[in-house]
Amino acid sequence: MSLVIVGSIAFDAIETPFGKTDKIVGGAATFAGLASAYLYDRVKLIGVVGDDFGDTNLGMLKERGIDLTGVEIKEGEKSFFWSGKYHNDMNTRDTLVTELNVLANFDPVVPESYQDCQYVLLGNLSPQVQLTTLERLQNKPKLVVLDTMNFWMDIAWDDLMNVLKRVDVLTINDAEARQLSGEYSLVKAAEKIQQLGPKYLIIKKGEHGALLFGEDRVFSAPALPLAEVYDPTGAGDTFAGGFIGYLARVGTLSFQNMKNAVIFGSALASFCVEKFGTQRLQELDPDLIRQRVARFTELTRFEIND
Ligand code: AMP
Repeated sequence: MSLVIVGSIAFDAIETPFGKTDKIVGGAATFAGLASAYLYDRVKLIGVVGDDFGDTNLGMLKERGIDLTGVEIKEGEKSFFWSGKYHNDMNTRDTLVTELNVLANFDPVVPESYQDCQYVLLGNLSPQVQLTTLERLQNKPKLVVLDTMNFWMDIAWDDLMNVLKRVDVLTINDAEARQLSGEYSLVKAAEKIQQLGPKYLIIKKGEHGALLFGEDRVFSAPALPLAEVYDPTGAGDTFAGGFIGYLARVGTLSFQNMKNAVIFGSALASFCVEKFGTQRLQELDPDLIRQRVARFTELTRFEIND
């Protein structure tokens, strides 16, 4: 049994009110892989990089037990590059550059050793590639989670609709939920989006937490109030990695476990934003994660005695 994650493996250049980076390691599969590997020990990535990505960066993932058999290295080509600049509120950002490079013609390879997978995270990537990955899996997975963004809604709507029919859980942010459904109310948006395929929907609201919809129920998770957010890049992917990593670990897909998975996703995302890029995610340990999850419990526990 394993957890397979497909997504971008990239270089990012980020500017926030706290500073600016040159090219640093990023990408949806990178963040999700790092997060899930703290919770589950059979994480396998599918992706593509250019020969500029380098052994050190790939080694950083391998050291954490992440299987990279499904990551292609294209000689003479450049890795995906994304650059973004955050506004002062850190909840909104402008994409400055998206260079698809190796992602432009990405044909995902699913190695034979990945065919034992039961949990699939279709990380942020072209919906066509997400669908092809699913089609190349010989056995129907127990759970398929999909993460996407406005970029794909703008340029690949029909492909996105096709892949959505095949997923169990969709994770998107509030603006994207509104764009996808045409509804301002997130409750109405959730109803419409569930009709597109996903039985469960998670709406991420940045510093305002996340909502889980499914089985005619709603669960609201807070975000941890943090004094300083250095860089929100990858928080969504980290959330998705933590969410599915937790479910792969516990192995039962009840609503209660989904709620706990949202808390683990939120806890890992709260670490991600504390430093630039993947830096903070590289230095965690199970104790730190446990303590942070306990802070979430404490944050929301109350008793009414009258
Ligand atoms: P997030 O902050 O969770 O939306 O994810 C940011 C990460 O997504 C960055 O590390 C980027 O490399 C990656 N990314 C940005 N745009 C795209 C895209 N169009 N396709 C795939 N990955 C992307």
